[in-house]
Amino acid sequence: MSTENARAFPNGRCWCGCGERIDDPRVFFRAGHDKRAEVRVIRERYGDVASFLLAYGYGPAAGGGAA
Ligand SMILES: [Zn+2]
Repeated sequence: MSTENARAFPNGRCWCGCGERIDDPRVFFRAGHDKRAEVRVIRERYGDVASFLLAYGYGPAAGGGAA
């Protein structure tokens, strides 16, 4: 299944995978859990943040970062 056009909707549970309940129907994550989810995906898919950036054309060679 392609996830390229997938659209996410809040479902009352934290999307980081912890399973905690969320009362606000507009919210995907418990406070701070969005970062936890990012870190896990980056580690599992790319190993580290530098490799993740390179995979998408960012990093020093792309001229990004501080001016
Ligand atoms: Zn969570």
